[in-house]
Amino acid sequence: MNDDDVRQDVAEHARFLSSLTGIGVPWPPEGAGAEEPAQATPAEAGDPEAGLRAIREEMGDCQRCRLAGGRKTIVFGQGDPRAELMFIGEAPGAEEDEQGLAFVGRAGRLLTDIIEKGLKMKRSEVWIGNILKCRPPQNRNPETDEVLACQPFLEAQIRTIRPRVIVALGKFSAHWLLKTATPITRLRGQLGEWEGIPAMPTYHPAYLLRNPRAKKDLWEDMKVVLELLGRPVPD
Ligand code: URA
Repeated sequence: MNDDDVRQDVAEHARFLSSLTGIGVPWPPEGAGAEEPAQATPAEAGDPEAGLRAIREEMGDCQRCRLAGGRKTIVFGQGDPRAELMFIGEAPGAEEDEQGLAFVGRAGRLLTDIIEKGLKMKRSEVWIGNILKCRPPQNRNPETDEVLACQPFLEAQIRTIRPRVIVALGKFSAHWLLKTATPITRLRGQLGEWEGIPAMPTYHPAYLLRNPRAKKDLWEDMKVVLELLGRPVPD
């Protein structure tokens, strides 16, 4: 790569980041050369589908952290790009890695019940994703550098979809979204926000499989979510 290639690469990347965040970082910097005509970002243009496609393209065959070596697929997340409700879990497990889809294993089936039987919504009308997009070996906990490598993509996804409410599933998601280290047992049910979007921390479905009695707490949290969405709240 020569200097010009590098400059072009950096410019393209900066344009991409600026287009995703909507922060509008000017590029090239004022007085630094040719002016780019101002363009609406996909999200600003009301086109979250295009915004998500751009994020996926930018990820490419991601090699930004060590998890790339052990994964089968990148689990980008799935659902309605215009979803009012977004669920964010921890990381793909074996079945998710196999299928390339978030929450399709046992915990995922419980999440489907929460959405369909509890919230009376279709799974296809929400968005479901994770803090990490690649499976950690033996489903170990995410490591900080892995979360940092992945987070620009999740941030871009949230900003693009801009749901009305986010549900943080489990401690990793809740700690990342709400920027706290409060244990999930104390944090759950305490509505916070991420860039102005209400964010409800609650238990991870995998925890509920092991501790079914905690489902009543999850249901209290989901009732608040329904209220925020202006949907009927059953008793
Ligand atoms: N657990 C998660 O946190 N995410 C998945 O996608 C599956 C299981």
